[in-house]
Amino acid sequence: MSGRYAPSPTGDLHLGNLRTALLAAVVARWSGRRFVIRMEDLDRVTSSREHESRQLADLAAIGVRSDPPDAPVVRQSDRFDLHRAAIAHLAERGLVYPCFCTRREIRAEIEAAASAPHVHLPDGAYPGTCRELSESERARRSAEGRRSALRLRADGEEITIVDRIAGEYRGVVDDVVLARADGVPSYNLAVVVDDAAQGVTQVVRGHDLLASTPRQVHLQRLLGLPTPEYWHVGLVLGPSGDRLAKRDGAVTLADLASAGVDGGAVRSALARSLGLTVPDMVGVDGFVAALASTFAPELVPAGPVSVDDVLP
Ligand code: GLU
Repeated sequence: MSGRYAPSPTGDLHLGNLRTALLAAVVARWSGRRFVIRMEDLDRVTSSREHESRQLADLAAIGVRSDPPDAPVVRQSDRFDLHRAAIAHLAERGLVYPCFCTRREIRAEIEAAASAPHVHLPDGAYPGTCRELSESERARRSAEGRRSALRLRADGEEITIVDRIAGEYRGVVDDVVLARADGVPSYNLAVVVDDAAQGVTQVVRGHDLLASTPRQVHLQRLLGLPTPEYWHVGLVLGPSGDRLAKRDGAVTLADLASAGVDGGAVRSALARSLGLTVPDMVGVDGFVAALASTFAPELVPAGPVSVDDVLP
């Protein structure tokens, strides 16, 4: 049984990412689980090993490491075969269809059909354009040189989850992408397959992914995989009130170090912003264990916090 933090190695982690990672490590320790860091490097263009090692170093600087600390890094890019096997399994059951739509076409269709849904739909939920294409319509699109993604036939399934921080959340599952047009497995498919393969029974991540969770739970059920417990933690907001981003100034450990702020001060500030009691005289190695020893779920604020509350 494991908890995990699963960053995409596409740049330096910012305070919002680090805050979520710290909570993930603390909650895993508190609940007696192992903790693993998994690199979600599905996008081979934006991901790099350099980003990966900087992220691992920054996580270590706030006390977040895999158990055991020298465990080999698991990368999603090494597991495409496993992801494709899951897609093949769904395809055998007639649950997969090719989708030729471009992002722009999907956006136009969503705007044209805009009506207020009565339950949550994830942002950009697919309107089903290619779901009922005939074989000849598919062949015509392929002949036009259009490449196809693979989508799940979800039949508008509604899923309710009970999140440990956000509470009850109900969402409709759209026909989520399983593999992109370039053949790369999608985030939603890969995350479900990899969490199960790694024995992850606890997912702590940013609130922005709550809306995708019904899709993931639906995929788990179709694939016969267990559903982990979910903790979607409030985001850190930048000065404009939007979610924190690199353009918001000194928001990474490297930026803060150049401004004279050390890692110890940052990890204490992150812990405080999570409602946790910061231990005295504990070095980085004992930090997560010390926080876990006084942890209680109700301490964690459910809503977003401002970056000013997260800075030392
Ligand atoms: N890799 C995703 C991200 O960096 C997080 C995925 C997850 O925690 O499920 O946003």
